[in-house]
Amino acid sequence: MTAPLFGQMMDVPLTVSSLIAHAARYHGDTQIVSRRIEGDIHRYTYRECETRAKQLAQALMALGVARGERVGTLAWNGYRHLEAYFGVPGFGAVCHTINPRLFPEQIAYIINHADDQYVLFDITFAPLIDALAPQCPNVRGWIALTDESHRPAMRTPVLCYETLIEAQDGRYEWPQLDERSASVLCYTSGTTGNPKGALYSHRSSVLHAYGASLPDAMGLSSRDAVLPVVPMFHVNAWGIPHAAPLNGAKLVLPGKDLDGKSLYELMEAEGVTCAAGVPTVWLGLLAHLRAAGVRFSTLTRTVIGGSACPPAMLRAFEDEYGVQVIHAWGMTEMSPLGTLAKLNWAQSQRPLEAQRAQLEKQGRVIYGVDMKIVGPDGKELPWDGVAFGDLHVRGPWVIDRYFRQESGTPLVDGWFPTGDVATIDPDGFLHITDRTKDVIKSGGEWISSISLENVAVAHPAVAEAACIACAHPRWTERPLIVAVLKPGATLTREELLAFFVGKVAKWWMPDDVVFINELPHTATGKLLKLKLREQFRDYVLPTALDTDNCPLGENEANR
Ligand code: ADP
Repeated sequence: MTAPLFGQMMDVPLTVSSLIAHAARYHGDTQIVSRRIEGDIHRYTYRECETRAKQLAQALMALGVARGERVGTLAWNGYRHLEAYFGVPGFGAVCHTINPRLFPEQIAYIINHADDQYVLFDITFAPLIDALAPQCPNVRGWIALTDESHRPAMRTPVLCYETLIEAQDGRYEWPQLDERSASVLCYTSGTTGNPKGALYSHRSSVLHAYGASLPDAMGLSSRDAVLPVVPMFHVNAWGIPHAAPLNGAKLVLPGKDLDGKSLYELMEAEGVTCAAGVPTVWLGLLAHLRAAGVRFSTLTRTVIGGSACPPAMLRAFEDEYGVQVIHAWGMTEMSPLGTLAKLNWAQSQRPLEAQRAQLEKQGRVIYGVDMKIVGPDGKELPWDGVAFGDLHVRGPWVIDRYFRQESGTPLVDGWFPTGDVATIDPDGFLHITDRTKDVIKSGGEWISSISLENVAVAHPAVAEAACIACAHPRWTERPLIVAVLKPGATLTREELLAFFVGKVAKWWMPDDVVFINELPHTATGKLLKLKLREQFRDYVLPTALDTDNCPLGENEANR
């Protein structure tokens, strides 16, 4: 065996601090604009951001935080949170972003499981911190992200962020850390069981930021003003706080007001060109645009993901407002970006309807992610756009194991099973049909709940819809649509069922429709189907009472 011949290039580690250092040095005057919790707009530059991130690093070291230790954040999208994104990992500690929308018991569990030493929090969360502090005895200090004049009245003794960092001079050189050391910790929402931690490394964070920036991904550049509506407490706001400084893009951080009007005004005032968020948020924005009769003057594209983007939303953005929709798929365990729907040259030559059908899917992987779908026997399924199976992924920004679950690997043959069910078409486009646990198993065949939801929300009277499985004596499970109507709209069960005719295979036709006032959502704005299934556990479908006569009699023939 001959020894390998190594390349003779500098072994410069990929560190998170290098992103802000780059932006400060080469895009020093580019702005970061934040709508503050205090109510006003704050504006400064990448140069100032780096200095303050360094001051934070110095302050945390002065408080005795060691490398590898975790520092939690409970904060909206804003410049102080951004400083924590760089200041905490910058000196070797781990920035643990906590989702404040989780139940307080889950948050306490996460803080204790992560063993957070300090927690930085926005003052809106002062009552939450008072509730959490007695349950988190190992936290050495709670730091309010504000100045002395806005320090909230609290039972818990707290430190003040501005006072802490003012005491430091910001003359600090980022250390050259091992790029494999931990940078950021994020927990999954834990819709089933306790939340699990995904511990990213400096290397994975930087590679993910590169990947997210590519032209066929978010396509960020120094000419962009990018608005992450997706929260910085949820999977790194899809990597935008890292990718924006990598490209020198202007960063616009919306704070806590995510209603359509507030977002629209911020977008217009700051010349936002690219915005990213979950479909629920865009519903609010579209509703505002229509009601106010206004249009975007600078927005060119929106990245939509976190749950399936309904085709009706895609059309609304593209046809009514001329804004490109980039449908994206990913998950906490993947940092999170996996695929994005952008057409290649050949696809863009096809008829318009065929192009649209592709854009409704979740798209193609970015370099760095590899995917496959497998059947129940673990064998890979064909990419024919028809066969659907469990989606497995691997790559340098996919987790290898969960934080502090050293025994047992989640991997199967070196691949991470996502828990999603999908098809892949001959173009290599992924189409998520369901979460494994949400798929409707009718007579041994699978019905995609997402597809049925997409049809329901395309009805002009429907604001939101969920499709869940209901027990059926003959078919095991059949689809039930639970829908919320738009304010003032009227619609009958029969009218909505009729709307499905011709849009889905006959045996996919929902068996019933129920209208309710509000659907349950997870902490991250996704439909909480677990709760809905519990709510409708004893629901009896009309077809279940009359199985001989049920409209499914013909289904077998249609399969
Ligand atoms: P959570 O913390 O709620 O699990 P994640 O963002 O990690 O949040 O959730 C990932 C899951 O969200 C994916 O496994 C998938 O089921 C769903 N998801 C994300 N993006 C999409 C999308 N574009 N279409 C359909 N489902 C999606």
